[in-house]
Amino acid sequence: MREKKRERYDVVIIGGGAAGLTAAIYCGRARLNTLLIEKGLVGGLATYTNEIENFPGFPEGIGGLGLMEKFHAQAKKFGVKFKGTDVKEVNFEGEWKEVHTFRNVFEARAVIVASGGRPRTTGAIGEKDYLFDKGISFCATCDAAANEGKTVMIIGSGDAAIEEGMFLTKFAKEVVVSVIHDEGKMDCNEIAKEQAMNNPKMSFAWNTMVNSFKGDGHLDNVELKNLKTGKMTDYKVDTCFEFIGYIPNTEIFKENFKLDRQGYVPTNELMETGVPGVFGAGDVRVKELKQVATAVGDGAIAGVGAEKYIADSEVFENQIMQSEKPGFIYVYSAIDDPSRELLPMMTEIEQSYQGKVKMSVIDIYKGRRLCDRLACDVEPMTMFYTLNGELVATEVECDRPHVEERLNKLLAKA
Ligand SMILES: Cc1cc2nc3c(=O)[nH]c(=O)nc-3n(C[C@H](O)[C@H](O)[C@H](O)COP(=O)(O)OP(=O)(O)OC[C@H]3O[C@@H](n4cnc5c(N)ncnc54)[C@H](O)[C@@H]3O)c2cc1C
Repeated sequence: MREKKRERYDVVIIGGGAAGLTAAIYCGRARLNTLLIEKGLVGGLATYTNEIENFPGFPEGIGGLGLMEKFHAQAKKFGVKFKGTDVKEVNFEGEWKEVHTFRNVFEARAVIVASGGRPRTTGAIGEKDYLFDKGISFCATCDAAANEGKTVMIIGSGDAAIEEGMFLTKFAKEVVVSVIHDEGKMDCNEIAKEQAMNNPKMSFAWNTMVNSFKGDGHLDNVELKNLKTGKMTDYKVDTCFEFIGYIPNTEIFKENFKLDRQGYVPTNELMETGVPGVFGAGDVRVKELKQVATAVGDGAIAGVGAEKYIADSEVFENQIMQSEKPGFIYVYSAIDDPSRELLPMMTEIEQSYQGKVKMSVIDIYKGRRLCDRLACDVEPMTMFYTLNGELVATEVECDRPHVEERLNKLLAKA
């Protein structure tokens, strides 16, 4: 088999939806050599939406495709490179992370995972013909206003289905819920169930599942099958909302981080995944609200995070872990008096060796990422010693005789 071509970048972004494109804008603008890989249409899920009315800055609303084209143009303006291909495999171990496609291996110091997800569908007859703008929706927040005074159907009875169904009753004149279970049984919590059953605009088709979707270009009929009697019933509806789950696009990351039970990528609020240099952004991560506005926020944080990570990498490799002379690293905290008061003594020690040793100082708060690279649970007043670019010792003894004894031993070995 032909060997894959290798290319190096500062940052590789997997997924070109709202989150990936925003991360790309931030990375490109920070002059990082950035590659974005998208297997489908650049713009992601939002391009399937005819009208986005809740993204700030567009009081008249804007088409999803049009909005995403603007994101794309902005990322290109900042020099981001794009590849239209599928990421097949990743390897996030080591300083240079690997992103494999069919023909290439892209290496990067930082990777942003923004691969989004896809709504779970019923698989019923005709479903593919009416997805998204043709009558089958997966987002009440997005499409409720377009259903003012209309009849809609909800598929599912979990928390999302019932809560979104209740929200839709503020707009639609009737909300019919198809529930797979016996009368009175639903998958949602009891409070939501009670509220839904007492809502005059909501009605329920118990023991049913979708058999087919029908219409003429746009959905206008959902045929439900009664699972007990086998009877088919047609419902005339304007929109059918499916809330039977969402599948994150994370199959290729299973070996790289611990996903949550539903397969989403857990991150902290800095979009860090726990694997140094790998960030998660947008619908792919564990989060409360999956919208373009939140994907944009995630992408911005991840882009800035990647930029800082790369800057830290350079400081870490070229200064802190330098290989020219034996080195000692003093970790302190600017708000911890005892550790801060030792700083002048550390400087004196370095000077007394007349250029034969190199000192680095890290403030535990400002340099949190650097501390993480030394040890994830480092405390103020910790000493690290290096020789030939390698970490050789970690100690909590910071008194002068101890530090000097350690440095003398290092000089003897150097
Ligand atoms: C029908 C519908 C209507 C919506 N309407 C609205 C609305 O009105 N307002 C609003 O704010 N939000 C709306 N949303 C939600 C919004 O679209 C999403 O929250 C947003 O698009 C998430 O962006 P993202 O970048 O995280 O993911 P996505 O947009 O899903 O982008 C992820 C991208 O990653 C790519 N990808 C995945 N795996 C790989 C791989 N292995 N290799 C390469 N590429 C890969 C995918 O092809 C995809 O393009 C709607 C969603 C749907 C489904």
